[in-house]
Amino acid sequence: MRIDKLLANMGYGSRKEVKDLLKKGNVRCDDKVVKSPQVHVDPGKNIITVFGETVEYKEAVYLMMNKPPGYVSATEDQRDLTVVDLLEPEDAVLNPFPVGRLDKDTEGLLLITNDGKLAHQLLSPKRHVGKTYFAIIEGRVTEEDIEAFQKGVPLDDGYVTQPADLKIMSHGETSEIELTITEGKFHQVKRMFESVGKRVTYLKRLSMGSLKLDPDLQTGEYRELTDQELEQLQ
Ligand code: URA
Repeated sequence: MRIDKLLANMGYGSRKEVKDLLKKGNVRCDDKVVKSPQVHVDPGKNIITVFGETVEYKEAVYLMMNKPPGYVSATEDQRDLTVVDLLEPEDAVLNPFPVGRLDKDTEGLLLITNDGKLAHQLLSPKRHVGKTYFAIIEGRVTEEDIEAFQKGVPLDDGYVTQPADLKIMSHGETSEIELTITEGKFHQVKRMFESVGKRVTYLKRLSMGSLKLDPDLQTGEYRELTDQELEQLQ
């Protein structure tokens, strides 16, 4: 594995920051300074140090899944299949978990990783990471709904949502919309529409922060994030 990828995976910064770390001579492999990000190392055999501290290597995995309906976003469940059940054994063995939850009947973008630090950053309410959903709504979504969502709507427990961006793609007896929210309250999209007297009949997440669902992924399929996708997320 390339040393820059290994160090970036282990949380020593983005690929660019790691390159800088290497250039300044702060990284050693078996006691030899390594300056090139392209050097290949074997984390099972070589001893890598950064500022003299040994890097404890645990293989990181970052997967983008197009979640199918009928699976729960958890690592285990008593009754239902989980998204982790859809992973190949070589990925599942690394103990990844889904970052945040999609309802059992919701489809779309799910990030699955064993990087707790990244998961924490993406879910932190302080970071206001935007999540965009496509939904089909029973009834006609209106300009008033756009304004209401922009101001914030009260959910059934009295919580008033942060401003959210609603776009109407088409409307008639049913409406197709895209909604971007920056929070992650339980069943938030469904409850926001309930609050304006409407029902979500289909829900799919399209993006989370900079990460966009790959349109080539069929439901139930997944792939590794590209280096660029990972760098932009961190
Ligand atoms: N909002 C919902 O109501 N459900 C989801 O799965 C995600 C957001």
